[in-house]
Amino acid sequence: MPVFDSRSFQDHEQVVFCSDAATGLKAIVAVHSTACGPAGGGIRFWDYAAAHRNNAPSDVAETRGEQDAVYDVLRLSRGMSYKNAMAGLRLGGGKSVIIGNPKEIGTPDLMRAFGRFVDRLSGSYYAAEDVGTSPAMLAAMAEETNYVSGLDDGEFATGDPSPHTALGVFVGIQSAVKHRLQKTDLSGVHVAVQGVGHVGIYLVEYLLNAGAKVTITDIVASNIEAAKAKGDVTVVEPAAIHAVDCDVFAPCALGGGLNPTTIPDIKATVIAGAANNQLEHEGVQDEDLRQRGILYAPDYVINAGGIISVEAEVHREKVSDADREAKVRRIGDTLTRVFEASDRESRPTGTIANEMAEDIIAKAAAKKA
Ligand code: NAD
Repeated sequence: MPVFDSRSFQDHEQVVFCSDAATGLKAIVAVHSTACGPAGGGIRFWDYAAAHRNNAPSDVAETRGEQDAVYDVLRLSRGMSYKNAMAGLRLGGGKSVIIGNPKEIGTPDLMRAFGRFVDRLSGSYYAAEDVGTSPAMLAAMAEETNYVSGLDDGEFATGDPSPHTALGVFVGIQSAVKHRLQKTDLSGVHVAVQGVGHVGIYLVEYLLNAGAKVTITDIVASNIEAAKAKGDVTVVEPAAIHAVDCDVFAPCALGGGLNPTTIPDIKATVIAGAANNQLEHEGVQDEDLRQRGILYAPDYVINAGGIISVEAEVHREKVSDADREAKVRRIGDTLTRVFEASDRESRPTGTIANEMAEDIIAKAAAKKA
């Protein structure tokens, strides 16, 4: 399996494989870049072999799962570098994966063992919550290391990042609507929100308060009920949300939702939502969307509100709510710069954002050298 020559590995500073027989821990920490500051990124705890168990013997499934884990951590850590750079943070990019089903093996002992590995990186990587990890798991890690952020308790704890992510998505929608529809407010603008979980529910509230017309969907009935309690929303089936005749489609569920099957059905002229990795293939679907006249807000630029809120915790700083909010609101201006460059150069917004991020990282690295 080629690793060093792969596009995913390119430019990574350090990749660490961790194993602890006593707890069953198998983990990988990828530090893509510390040019802008210590690498910040979440811990994904995922049973990578599960996708292969139906069509391969168990040992082959495990091997394939481990290969998937390597590429996932490399891709995600690079993404964190770009996200943190575009948000203007003093954070580099990193990510970690723990291989296995968190419900089966995610014990406090295992998290403490992982905490000891993270501690040995001496602050080049700060861990946070991601898919499969919880505040309680982070708290167990924090017994072994200070290099954990996004904690619920503690002097610099910043707690749940979701409301900050939602605010960033809301201002991102405002800037996209201004750019594409020449509307300076969202009253009467129709937004279809896919997924009303931690981020989506706050986004619905912001949108309703701004006078937007809101359509939602979710696969969990109680989440739909919670969103309905916020105000007047229309509910559609999950399979129909991307095709709603609306102004803005806001993916706030899982990644990969913008693909050759869904894109031809999209009627919105703006796509702006919180989900990570919305494009099935970067550089392909964003160009497709551009050619169809759909303005795509690059996911890692618009969903940076959460990591913006965590930055101060990593640096052990106290930040006022007003300063934090002001920083999250700057996402709107950053997106406007991306949209304008895309128009000027007739190139997709995703490519433009990547190049801007690479430029910021290269300049920071040159300054450090
Ligand atoms: P969440 O799990 O709380 O919410 C996701 C929601 O989507 C859930 O209510 C789930 O039931 C629903 N869902 C799943 N599949 C669906 C489908 N096919 N159709 C409709 N609904 C579906 O997650 P979250 O924290 O709200 O994050 C949402 C997205 O934003 C994720 O992609 C996440 O990676 C990304 N993100 C979140 C944050 C944050 O601060 N929480 C920060 C950056 C990016």
